Amino acid sequence: MISALRPSRFMPPGHNRINVSFEFFPPKDEAMEKTLWESVERLAPLAPQFVSVTYGAGGSTRERTHATVKRILAETSLTPAAHLTCVAATRGEVDEIVREYHNAGVRHIVALRGDPVSGAGEKYAPTPGGYENAADLVGGIKRVSPDFEVSVSAYPERHPDSATVEADIDMLKAKVDAGATRAITQFFFENDLYFRYLDRVRARGIDIPIVPGILPVQNFKAAVNFAARAGASVPAWLAERFAGLDGDPATRKLIAAAVAAEQAIDLLDRGVTSFHFYTMNRADLVYAICHLLGLRPAVEQAA
Ligand code: FAD
Repeated sequence: MISALRPSRFMPPGHNRINVSFEFFPPKDEAMEKTLWESVERLAPLAPQFVSVTYGAGGSTRERTHATVKRILAETSLTPAAHLTCVAATRGEVDEIVREYHNAGVRHIVALRGDPVSGAGEKYAPTPGGYENAADLVGGIKRVSPDFEVSVSAYPERHPDSATVEADIDMLKAKVDAGATRAITQFFFENDLYFRYLDRVRARGIDIPIVPGILPVQNFKAAVNFAARAGASVPAWLAERFAGLDGDPATRKLIAAAVAAEQAIDLLDRGVTSFHFYTMNRADLVYAICHLLGLRPAVEQAA
């Protein structure tokens, strides 16, 4: 039998060694709501380990984040993870949100410091009476209920607030010591950056999974802006690949799929088995990349 897959590089379909998770943001209006739920439906058969829902800067999407997480629980068999930040809320208010999630059946939180209400890039100051930082928040969540699985962020290229990568790794260590059991990285485009960071994290004795965050570039200009705020570098070769395609969305989409597939397959080849996708609420590219990684809809696998 001729296999469609190259066994030296890929897991055979159905060989369930790969874990994926998908990140969504809460929709602002009806049209975005429709796009989100179509994407959730499209991706759900790939049986992600969890799907996470972001929390808007300054807690601005608090109600929408809750509503989206609760709808995922009520209408799908997916496991939701709710993002939560320390910004613009006291400890008591944050604890109340955590208790509400627990009562609703949520058992996974992605705990973040968050950005200042005045915007990323401004100097961060903890809210008076609030959690000081992400490590403090992880501890607070675990005090509300030790049942919570807590994931946190990690920055292969250094968080912009951090003087050094070592300071970032100190914060990651504090988050792990407080109870975090998974880190999800900021997106990156050069895999060597991830592996160098991983070596430094492991050298510090941190042994939780450091799951690479993959951003399929749906919109190159938006990705460049996003990267500048997030402290992620955009290599010249990537800009070159999208050059001249501003008026050609169909080709841009093919390039985006090729770039993300190349990155994910290289990570797979180098031993990575868990992937977190920043979906931007769109399913097509992510679905295609997962397919290339060998993932198949759960029903098809079972057949
Ligand atoms: P931390 O890991 O706590 O800190 C990052 C670095 O900054 C550490 O080195 C730390 O030492 C340093 N640092 C922290 N505070 C200070 C300080 N006061 N002075 C100097 N250095 C300091 N944002 C949202 O608003 N909502 C989301 O849903 C969301 N989801 C995210 C998901 C992922 C996977 C990632 C990677 C990021 C996400 N963010 C989100 C962005 C994140 O909130 C910002 O990057 C924020 O600036 C830092 O929060 P953190 O928990 O990542 O920081």
